[in-house]
Amino acid sequence: MTFTDTHTHLYSEEFAQDRDAMIQRAFAAGVTRLFVPSIDSTYTQQMYDLEAQYPENVFLMMGLHPTYVKENYLDELAHVEAHLAQHKFYAVGEIGVDLYWDKTFLKQQQEAFSRQIQLAKQYKLPINIHCRDAFDETFDVLESEKGEGLYGIFHCFTGDFEQAQRAIGYGMKLGIGGVATFKNGKIDQFLADIPLQNIVLETDAPYLSPVPHRGKRNESAYVALVAQKLAELYGVSVEEIARVTTQNSKEVYGV
Ligand SMILES: [Zn+2]
Repeated sequence: MTFTDTHTHLYSEEFAQDRDAMIQRAFAAGVTRLFVPSIDSTYTQQMYDLEAQYPENVFLMMGLHPTYVKENYLDELAHVEAHLAQHKFYAVGEIGVDLYWDKTFLKQQQEAFSRQIQLAKQYKLPINIHCRDAFDETFDVLESEKGEGLYGIFHCFTGDFEQAQRAIGYGMKLGIGGVATFKNGKIDQFLADIPLQNIVLETDAPYLSPVPHRGKRNESAYVALVAQKLAELYGVSVEEIARVTTQNSKEVYGV
């Protein structure tokens, strides 16, 4: 059984003490395909190092995360553009809009999102969307960029059924992780009405650990726990969840 973690921050400081052991635990749990989103330029070298160490298992994205869109965002976008031109990446991400912490840079966040979607189209890559407290603002950008060449994953999807339909309509698969296992996570109530063809698994490690590790550090091995929950919701075997969601991830990322 092969699981795919479509969104994991392997380079996080949270793994400084046991990164290799953590990655081995993922392999032991069958989670052998690890897709790593970019946040900003400070992590790029560590991402390259991880890819060099695990060339069969680690697949990188390049992008500027919305909460890192600050005064220097044009320099950061230039970094994204330069690295896309010189290295093979599997998506542009994570990109989007986040109004949970700070609304100061909303305009710049949307501009950065839109410019990075255009880069994804230029390189024929999927996008990996981060959206927090900002569905309308995220959909506004997707609406203006919709159509040919726009596709990818709506990472850590936490919206309602209608928002799920809308995201799928823009060419996105829904990235489902620990939130699906939360008692108050809400998405478990309608997820089974969304065809499994639109779902991929993720952890967003080190954040958003699934039950029974909720509140503690997350790691890629726990994708298996999310798969277990989806097997219950969809009434199919864990093997079937692994097979279909890995196939879906291959459709998106091309590997
Ligand atoms: Zn993330």
